[in-house]
Amino acid sequence: MKKRLLFFLFCCVTFFSNAQYGEYDTVKAGPPFKIFDNLYYVGNDFVSSYLLVTKDGLVLLDATYGKYPAHILQSVNDLGFDPQQIKYIFCTHAHYDHFEGADTLQEVTHARVGMTDYDWQVANGTIYNEYSSKTVKMKRDWTINDGDSLKLGNNVLHFYVTPGHTLGVLSIAFKVYDGNKSYKAFMFGGIGQNFTGVKQTQLYLNSVNRILKMKNLSVNITNHPGAGDIFEKAEKLKIRKPGTQHPFVDAKGFKQWLLDLKKDALKKLQEEKKKAKGNQN
Ligand SMILES: [Zn+2]
Repeated sequence: MKKRLLFFLFCCVTFFSNAQYGEYDTVKAGPPFKIFDNLYYVGNDFVSSYLLVTKDGLVLLDATYGKYPAHILQSVNDLGFDPQQIKYIFCTHAHYDHFEGADTLQEVTHARVGMTDYDWQVANGTIYNEYSSKTVKMKRDWTINDGDSLKLGNNVLHFYVTPGHTLGVLSIAFKVYDGNKSYKAFMFGGIGQNFTGVKQTQLYLNSVNRILKMKNLSVNITNHPGAGDIFEKAEKLKIRKPGTQHPFVDAKGFKQWLLDLKKDALKKLQEEKKKAKGNQN
């Protein structure tokens, strides 16, 4: 019965989404893949979604949009897990490509959906944002605050509010396992600098500086695959020889990536200040 219901929902989601995005949607969704013993990629080639496996249930990090929640559920199933065991869905921010799918996923799995206060207001339509969903108004479920944490099995998810990309970006730190080794992974929930204004740019810069000060970050889990070369690293992982370094473990590379974001943000800050001055004159 449950399987039939799931299949029905797949069909509904696919039908409605094709109608909604139609020919403009050129995104490709390939097969899921394992990154660490407890972390899998279940997103598409535009926006990420990760499946974090714990003894206390499955967690989805970002929900994608349109027809892709069906791809996520199919991927979870194909990886050998029961989609009904998805207990939590955390959305990094309230731009449609990261949260819109949480609506359907919650309906199918009854998972708790977590987002920050500000971005819940965007997600439910109280605050306007041009990149929010045109079709889904999510009802507020679980509001995540800075410093919150969630213990699940032998993992603890640590939550940070890192505004900039939106005013309520959620970033998450957690452990990933590679055999008998474990590493600290970090998902910066709002990478792109496609926003305007001195204030928001300063907030972004503060968030990047804050992350730069965090200790032992060695795995960069990006919410768009292109932003962190997720597919390139996955190719390296496929041909990795036993006993050699895991291609996703790269503390130095992570730090440099953050420093590059900082450099861009500093440049943007100067431009935004110039623009603001120009508007005053
Ligand atoms: Zn965004």
